[in-house]
Amino acid sequence: MKHDVRMRGFAERVDVEVVEAFLAEHARALGGEPVALLDCVGRVLAEDVTAEVDVPGFPRSAMDGYAIRGEQSFGASAYDAIRLDVVGVSLPGNPYGSKLQAGQAVRIMTGAPIPDGADAVVKAEVCEEEDGVVSISEAVAPCKNVGAIGEDIAKGDAVLKAGRRLRPQDAGLLSSIGRAEVLCVRRPRVRLVVTGDELLPAGSIPAGSQIVDSNSVVLRGLIGRDGGTSLPFEILPDVPDEIRGAMASEDADVVLVSGGTSVGQEDHAPRLLSELGELAYHGISMRPSSPTGIGRIGERFVFLLPGNPVSCLAAYEFFAGPTIRALGGRARAWPHRRVTLPLARKIVSEVGRTDYVRVAVEEGQATPLATAGASILSSTVRAAGAVVIPRELEGIREGAEVEVLLYDDEVAEA
Ligand code: AMP
Ligand code: MG
Repeated sequence: MKHDVRMRGFAERVDVEVVEAFLAEHARALGGEPVALLDCVGRVLAEDVTAEVDVPGFPRSAMDGYAIRGEQSFGASAYDAIRLDVVGVSLPGNPYGSKLQAGQAVRIMTGAPIPDGADAVVKAEVCEEEDGVVSISEAVAPCKNVGAIGEDIAKGDAVLKAGRRLRPQDAGLLSSIGRAEVLCVRRPRVRLVVTGDELLPAGSIPAGSQIVDSNSVVLRGLIGRDGGTSLPFEILPDVPDEIRGAMASEDADVVLVSGGTSVGQEDHAPRLLSELGELAYHGISMRPSSPTGIGRIGERFVFLLPGNPVSCLAAYEFFAGPTIRALGGRARAWPHRRVTLPLARKIVSEVGRTDYVRVAVEEGQATPLATAGASILSSTVRAAGAVVIPRELEGIREGAEVEVLLYDDEVAEA
C-alpha cells in the first residue's frame, strides 16, 4: 500500500500559518446570483449599485403646513399676519392639480408634492385658517421646508459597493431606488460527511457504546453563521466506498469530513482525499486538532476535521470557517468581538505548536478551563471564547493580557 498514509503517525506536522496561507491564497469569492430584494439582508453584494432615479423624484414638503411663494410671507409677524387664500390641498400621493398663483396657499402634509408655483412651506403652528383664508404670522424664505428633487439620493449616485454585507437599511435604500433584485455573492454550499460506526443521528438517545452525533449539529450552526448553506447529509459508517462517494459529490463548494481523519485503522478520509484530489496537508502543529487534513478535489475545498468535538470545532474555526466566509465574500477574520483581558491562571504551551485554549470570563479575567481535553464538548459551552497561543510562545504567564476570541458578541460569564 504505497500511497496509504495511515499508521505511519505524523512524521511531520505543518505550521498553522502555512495552512492558513494556502487557504487565503486559494479561497476567492464565488460568483454572483440574483437575489430578491426581500431576501438580500445579510447577503454580500456582488455588484456596484448606482441609482437610476432621483429620490425623491419631486420636491416634497418636510412639514405639515401651507405651501406658498416664500416672498409673499416677507414681513409677516404675530402682530402683522399676512393673509392668503387657501385654494386646495396637497397630500402624499395626491398632489394639488393646479398652479399656485400670487395671493394663494395650498394646505400640505409632510411628504406631499410642492405645487407648481410654490417654493416654500410655512409650518402649521404659525398659521391659522378660517373661512378659506390662512393667516401666517412668520416669514419663510424660498426653499424653506422643501426637500429638493434628489435630496436623499441623486440619479447617478454610487449608493452601495460590491463586497458590502447588506444591512436592513441598505435593502430599504435599494427598494427606494426601484430595485427588485440585486446580484449577491453565491452562498458556499457545504457538504457534511459525518463518519463513525459508533454514531447515532441527532435526536437519538445515546445507548450502549453508541454516542449521538454532535459535530454535525455544531458544524451546521457554524456554517450558517459564516454564510454557507449545509446540504442534506447522512451519517456514514467507517466504510471507504461510502465515504468516497459522499466526498466526491459535486454539488458542494466545501466538503467537511467529521471523524476518521487521523492515522488509525478506521481513518480512511486522508487516503480517499489523496486519491480523489489533493491532500495538501495532513497533521498540523496545533492542539487540539492536530489530526486535521486539508486539500481540494477540483475546485472544492475539503477539510478533514477530527471527530473529537473540541478538535472538530477548533479545526473548523481555524481553517474551514475563514474559507467559507471568504468564498461567500465575507472577511476571513474572526466573526465575533474580541476582548483583551488579564489571564487568571498561566497557560503552558510548547514552542512550535499553536494552542487553542477555551477560557471562561469571570470577574473581568480570562480563566483557562481545566478539564479541557479534546473530547470535552462541555468545555466549549462553559467557555466565553478562546485564546490562541502562538507557535513561538512556551505559554502565557498569569496576569498577562490576552486576546479572547469571543464565541458571541456578548461576553457570556460562566
Ligand atoms: P475519530 O476522529 O473518528 O477517531 O473520533 C474521535 C472521537 O470523536 C471518538 O471518541 C468519536 O466517538 C468522537 N466522534 C466522532 N465523530 C463524532 C461526532 N460526529 N459527534 C460527536 N463525537 C464524535
Ligand atoms: Mg471515527
